[in-house]
Amino acid sequence: MTTHLDVDLGTLAANIASIRRRIDGTELMLVVKDDAYAHGIVSVVSRAFAEGVRWFGAFDIASAARVRHAVGDRARIFVWIAVTREEIEEALSLDLDFGVGDAAMLEDVAAAALDQRARVHLKIDTGLHRNGIRPESWRRTAARAHDLEMAGAIEVVGIWSHIAEASDDEDDEARECFDRAVREARAVGLNPSILHLAASAASWERPEFRYDLARVGAYCYGIRPAGGPSEAELSISPVGSLWADITAVGADVTLGIGSLHGLPSTLAGKCEIQTRDGWRRLTRIGDTESWAESWPSARVGEEVKIYGTDAMSATDLAEKIETIGEEIALRVSPIVPRRYV
Ligand SMILES: *Cc1c(COP(=O)(O)O)cnc(C)c1O
Repeated sequence: MTTHLDVDLGTLAANIASIRRRIDGTELMLVVKDDAYAHGIVSVVSRAFAEGVRWFGAFDIASAARVRHAVGDRARIFVWIAVTREEIEEALSLDLDFGVGDAAMLEDVAAAALDQRARVHLKIDTGLHRNGIRPESWRRTAARAHDLEMAGAIEVVGIWSHIAEASDDEDDEARECFDRAVREARAVGLNPSILHLAASAASWERPEFRYDLARVGAYCYGIRPAGGPSEAELSISPVGSLWADITAVGADVTLGIGSLHGLPSTLAGKCEIQTRDGWRRLTRIGDTESWAESWPSARVGEEVKIYGTDAMSATDLAEKIETIGEEIALRVSPIVPRRYV
């Protein structure tokens, strides 16, 4: 085997079980944007569905179509990208749940739905300014949504937002803003039954942020937060392990992985890989090859682990170059074969 990403679906299942225990009665939405954080959306979703997951966060319509195809009509699929009229029609035919973050999209969804009662989750901007209805126009938009609901075009099933999860104080403020929006929505006649606010970190750490649904990506894939608790503390393990093969042995060892495979060249000199003979420093990273310190028994064809279980984790590497684990995991190029174990 040459350079490849091992994706351990058993570990995915174990992480999901651990998160569900932790969030207790709250339903889990597995976030599968960016090809399931580069682990391969179809395999990930199929296994999660077999484990009983019934909500998937797909971000865009094309990914949602792949999820629908993989799991059939017994799962709810949430999309939250702003979309064109054409995409809305496709989304309706796929029976998706729409995250709606502005008044114009609300009109577009309702117009396309006619009397189909599109399921809408209205998004309040609680301070992140990444799309979302601003608090000052919330009441007006919520009232308009209620009119559209009365007309049979949509059903406002949920209210949601996204928070920074960087500081508790900021998150608390965002939550107050969220609760206010929910009260206002109810005051204009909406009756949303699914409130959702938290991603991995807040779902894990802060019960009051869980509401009805927790949108979890990173922790399900075993990616811990940079500068935060360890995998052991979170009861999760890395699902993806990146392997490279030795292509030449000399004064140093040449590996068949480079920046084109997704290894950031800034890691050179800063990280150690796991070999059969223990840790070795990665000294240089080229486009398609990289080099590590040699060891006596190194052989061409032998594999070394760049990150994953029993090695550095994606977040360990990320911390060396002051970024986050997702950044490392998401970089793994589509040219790197995924191997499901
Ligand atoms: C990516 C994303 C999530 C998941 O975040 P994690 O930190 O990976 O759990 C949840 N909600 C939204 C809107 C997202 O974009």
